[in-house]
Amino acid sequence: MWMIIILAAGYLYYTRKQAKERAAQMKRKPTEDYIEAEAKVVVEIPCSQCGKLVEDDFRHCPYCGQKIK
Ligand SMILES: [Zn+2]
Repeated sequence: MWMIIILAAGYLYYTRKQAKERAAQMKRKPTEDYIEAEAKVVVEIPCSQCGKLVEDDFRHCPYCGQKIK
């Protein structure tokens, strides 16, 4: 019985931690964009699918959704 409670608590803690990390990442993004824009060090690479310039740290093209390496 205790095992189940401990496991459930551990699982809840784990998922909460993940949600927290995701929220932190989402919050961090605009700040980084702002800092990069201010510093003018944004690295842009052309999307292999649509050819539009996409920031180097993007995982997916915001225009067509193509995965960036
Ligand atoms: Zn694209």
